[in-house]
Amino acid sequence: MNNSEMQYRQDKHGNRLSILGFGCMRFLKKGNNIDLEEAEREIMEAYNAGVNYFDTAYVYSGSEAAIGEIFEKNGIRDKINIATKLPQYLVSNNAALDRYFNEELSRLRTDHIDYYLMHHLTDIAMWEKLKNVGVLDWIKEKKASGQIRNIGFSYHGTTDGFLKILNDYDWDICQIQYNYFDVNTQAGVDGLKAAAAKGIPVVIMEPLRGGKLVNMLPESAKKIMKESERDWSPAEWGLRWLYDQPEVTVVLSGMNSVEMVRENCRTASTAPAGHFTESDHKTLSEVTKKIRELEKVGCTGCRYCMPCPKGVDIPGAFRCYNAMYIESKSDGRFQYAQTVGLTREPGFPDQCIKCGKCEQHCPQNIPIREKLKEADKALRPLPYKIGINIARKFMFRKSSSSKS
Ligand code: SF4
Ligand code: SF4
Repeated sequence: MNNSEMQYRQDKHGNRLSILGFGCMRFLKKGNNIDLEEAEREIMEAYNAGVNYFDTAYVYSGSEAAIGEIFEKNGIRDKINIATKLPQYLVSNNAALDRYFNEELSRLRTDHIDYYLMHHLTDIAMWEKLKNVGVLDWIKEKKASGQIRNIGFSYHGTTDGFLKILNDYDWDICQIQYNYFDVNTQAGVDGLKAAAAKGIPVVIMEPLRGGKLVNMLPESAKKIMKESERDWSPAEWGLRWLYDQPEVTVVLSGMNSVEMVRENCRTASTAPAGHFTESDHKTLSEVTKKIRELEKVGCTGCRYCMPCPKGVDIPGAFRCYNAMYIESKSDGRFQYAQTVGLTREPGFPDQCIKCGKCEQHCPQNIPIREKLKEADKALRPLPYKIGINIARKFMFRKSSSSKS
């Protein structure tokens, strides 16, 4: 076993976590099921290279059962950390907390979870809903019994919403989406720094924007990387940018081949915090500029226009509108539904009363009112409007505070 070079950072309680975490959302399939042999090869390759953080969730189809079987078969359960998540959007009463948790323990073939996260919070209202069904006492009991070692949340809303949740509870860990292109969106760099200032470890998801900072980079951006002093692949640039920041604790990567595991482990072994040079930062800022040339609205996500008195999520709407052109129409629309529409107080542009306050603060001089209208029309055609309304009714239905 060669794990002497993997880099580790500490969690809140001094445990060492590998800076590369294994994202177990999408393993390769054999027919309709996970290809267990291939998944085992990848997991054991990562384990032997020093990876000790494995991230899954109740809703990642077949994932908990697959990794539970692999850990048990190879006798490594007690040598690694399992992070999994409560499907909080399915929880409407106290009994559901134990029901989902026990099912997860059984799938994972373990008697405890090292890092248990409230999955996919998009605003404080979701956390309040959990508190109303008694989650605080439930966590206390699970921690006291040792069934949960650390408690956290994964997040997909605005920076303000993230900070509210962060400051509402004594969390052990949090998980956010963050990459060199999305510095100011969702929790963003402000969220990262706020968590780190409180000593809360931050796990990064979507470090390469779901692979798009590799597969969908414009040729002009790839050329800038190639002509730099570094012999790094686009994936390596993205991961190294994150490892460079001491506030980042673990970077999750969904690895679908042994070669990818090897490459990512190699990168994680040679990327200490602070290793980026000025010239490296310049390279990525030029790459970012090239990607931005594909955008519809030149919004940098600086948030100087916020807060909007009517709750419109201005940078959120523009980010999703741009994603329709940088990524794909459906990606942009999905992100819009997820981050702007499926929060308790949605931030849709049709809430705008055209007061013009935002435009006075925009350093990019964006005609925000006009562009918001255009963005909403493209992002929310009628079938999406109907779909979002149905999902909202389901997600924000009244929860029962009954403990039975
Ligand atoms: S113009 Fe619209 S989006 Fe801008 S601050 Fe006023 S209500 Fe909000
Ligand atoms: S101020 Fe302008 S650039 Fe900054 S987030 Fe608002 S719209 Fe975007």
